[in-house]
Order: sequence, then structure tokens, then C-alpha cells
Amino acid sequence: MSPVKENLETIIKELPQGATLVAVSKFHPSEAIREAYEAGQRIFAESRPQELEKKVAELAESCPDIEWQFIGHLQTNKLKMVLPYVSLVQSVDSVHLLKEIDKWAVSNQRTVNILLEVHVAQEETKQGFYDEEVVDLLFDAVNGKYKGVNFCGIMAMATNTDDEATVKADFQRATDLFDYLRDTFHELKDFNILSIGMSSDWRIALEEGSTMVRIGTAIFGSRGY
Ligand SMILES: *Cc1c(COP(=O)(O)O)cnc(C)c1O
Repeated sequence: MSPVKENLETIIKELPQGATLVAVSKFHPSEAIREAYEAGQRIFAESRPQELEKKVAELAESCPDIEWQFIGHLQTNKLKMVLPYVSLVQSVDSVHLLKEIDKWAVSNQRTVNILLEVHVAQEETKQGFYDEEVVDLLFDAVNGKYKGVNFCGIMAMATNTDDEATVKADFQRATDLFDYLRDTFHELKDFNILSIGMSSDWRIALEEGSTMVRIGTAIFGSRGY
């Protein structure tokens, strides 16, 4: 059995009902993606617009029901390279970006599914919204400010550390925020995704209530940058 297939099976075996595995294929060649596809994986995520465009084209024929998501920093001048091809943008990290996505969606008569990236790590460097910003923004959302955007939940990354207690505490903050938002903004019918957990911490994330894990290295091996 190929390592990719074996890795996928290991993870899927531990995935609870209702949790989704997103295979993070950034920096890996289309050949590796095709291998995962043939092993049954359908959802893949990329972090760079140009790389996404290239792989979409390369895999359209051989992987007809592949589903793409975007998880990287998205510049507003790159929207048309990304939005037509993805089922979900996980990395919406500013009001400016949100407004531009909304504008694109309305003018293209589309609805774009998004997650709000929230800041839960105990590091300055991680991007994302703070709790109060998310609350303000969703108030605007339920009041009809964003006609082209479907708010599907939140995405977060834990502190980059080996200390499990820190990671767990970060994920607990994400889960608490997610629960609070769902209670407060129940008008948002599709607000169901809590995207936490990567190769190093997906088991902890699932224990804390993750509904979507984003795993690259533990499926495809390390990335050759
Ligand atoms: C790269 C990346 C991942 C996957 O990281 P691995 O450690 O390889 O599993 C998950 N989420 C985001 C936002 C990423 O940029």
C-alpha cells in the first residue's frame, strides 16, 4: 500500500462521525493529490492562488469530483484566481477581505462559503480576528450586510509549541467561542464548522470538539520548500 493511502486510512479510522478531513496538499505535486483521490479522499486545500489554479487545471479531468478549499492568506487582487474554484475559504482574516469577497460574489451572482479565522494562540504573530471583532462582524451579517457570503463557522490555529496543555487551552478557547457564536447568531443556519487541528495536534483538536481537521504533513509527508 502507498504511504499516502496508509496515512489517510490511519486518520480516517480515528475520525468521529460528523468530522471532515481536509487534505492539505500545498507544495505537493498533483501526482500526490491524485494518489489520495484514488484512495477515496475528495476534499483538498491549497494556500497559494497560483498553485491552486495550476492544480485545478491539472486534475480537472482525472479527478472529476474533487473539492477544493482555500486556507492561505488571500490578497484581494487574487480573488478571481481562487473564488470560482473553491467550495470554502477558511482563511478570511479581515473585514476588508470579507467586503471584497462579498462584492465579488454579488457581482458574479454567487454565494461564497467562508470561515472566519480567529486568533486563539498565545503568540503575536498568528493572524485572525479577536472575539469581539467576530461578534461585531456577525451582528452586521445577521443584519444583512453581506449578501454574497455564507458564514459557515470559524478556523483557528493553536500556538506553535510541543506543550500539549497550551495547545489544548487554545483549542478550548476556539470551542467556547464557536459555541457562543452559534447560540448568539442562530439565524446563521450554516454556521456549523469548527476547523481546528493540523498534523501535530489533530487528535487534541478532535477531543476538544473539532468538526474539521486540516492535515498535510501526516498524509503527504514533509513539504519541500
Ligand atoms: C499548512 C496548513 C495546514 C496543514 O499543516 P500540516 O502541519 O502539514 O498538517 C493546516 N492549516 C493551515 C491554515 C495551513 O496553512
